[in-house]
Amino acid sequence: MGTASTDSTVTKTIWQYSMPLPEETMVFLRGIAADCCKVKNYVYGKYSGVKNLNNLTPVYNILNEMRHCGLREQLNLPAVYYELAIADAVTNIKCNWGTVKNRVGECITANENLSDGDKIYLRTVLKMNGVYAAILNRREYEMPRNAAGLDIDVKRLNNLLCRLTRRYLTQPKTESTAIFRVSPNGYSYKDGVMRIVCRVPRKRISIPLRDNRTFDRQIQIQIRQNDVALAVPVEAKVKQHPDYTNTIYIHIGNKDMFTLSNEHLYGVSLEELTNPETERLSKKNRERRKMYTAHEQSAEDGDARKAANIEANNLGKLKYDRQKEREKVRTTTFINSEINRMIRSEKPARIVIAKQVTKNKTKIYNKSTNRKLARSFNSYIRERLAYKCKVHSIELVEISSKHTGNICSICGAEGKRQGKEFVCESCGLKTTIALNSARNTEQRYLMRSVD
Ligand SMILES: [Zn+2]
Repeated sequence: MGTASTDSTVTKTIWQYSMPLPEETMVFLRGIAADCCKVKNYVYGKYSGVKNLNNLTPVYNILNEMRHCGLREQLNLPAVYYELAIADAVTNIKCNWGTVKNRVGECITANENLSDGDKIYLRTVLKMNGVYAAILNRREYEMPRNAAGLDIDVKRLNNLLCRLTRRYLTQPKTESTAIFRVSPNGYSYKDGVMRIVCRVPRKRISIPLRDNRTFDRQIQIQIRQNDVALAVPVEAKVKQHPDYTNTIYIHIGNKDMFTLSNEHLYGVSLEELTNPETERLSKKNRERRKMYTAHEQSAEDGDARKAANIEANNLGKLKYDRQKEREKVRTTTFINSEINRMIRSEKPARIVIAKQVTKNKTKIYNKSTNRKLARSFNSYIRERLAYKCKVHSIELVEISSKHTGNICSICGAEGKRQGKEFVCESCGLKTTIALNSARNTEQRYLMRSVD
């Protein structure tokens, strides 16, 4: 596994905010976002199927077709929005194909009726878009060199591949009408005001900003209640730390964020930040649902005054959203500063973690568990850790998480979990589940290095 080279960069997002905007500007922005959403769904409908698997790169071909299909004129959508919506949709389609290939690959791995030769053939084909596309569209293709001479039933395998692909390929769809992107020639600045292209040629719409920074890149515009947030991707230089030489092993938990195999903890009691919120939110949501029902009921009954009264006093969605947002910011700030602190004090050249456990999809969780999973910050923590490793040129290694949780890190016997404790009856080890996991991660990694 390589480390980052000396002159590489990472992309980070800078945020900029507008002043409160007049309603007519908000209407314009919402209209552009809604049209971009239509464009994306059109592209999904037309290009996400098996016919176009091999036509997605370069995106220019699709852009060119879309320029002449009449949709842009029909929507009266300026090209600076139209073309990025197309490009975004194509990126998502490719991403979608990546997921399909992963799923099909997993099925192939798990299929006991396939010989080693069968698997070599199928895996090779999955990696070659041209061949994969030919098989899905029942066209002639040249046998990949890897697979030549294998003793396999090609027809049977191709049928299996088609069947699995059909099972996992879905057409993406977006309903997000609060976001769009604009290319650099779609905006300019004047006196702290961003001026963006509108539907009338040579006219621009003013968006006064809260600061004077100017950019020259594709900007994502996120529409909020009465203003916008601008997400600007910028390149940040990768930092080199010659004094960072340690290898550390981390268990990423829900109670404490990081437990290291050297017993150091970071993000202690993260759970207390995330869980009371979950509780409070679900309670609030319950109350709000009751209010909405009461509101609808009295409106139906023709009790307009009562309805208006409830509306004015209880629905406060704005306040609710703000409070939710504040709590989220508090949690993410804590997470980020604790990751930074960990990197500063541990000085790692390499960080080893266990892969995220994917939950069994068929298992049905009750609502509260579901919400907890959905709101779990685990994915966010991993994403931020991966990003910060890139920024500080730290190698991040993910190993299989199989058994890191229930095997004793001293003797290898299966242990018992009691609350947050881990107990091994075989050798008498008594520790926390988190520390035991971190130590298992360490041992698994060191053993892997040996063979
Ligand atoms: Zn033991």
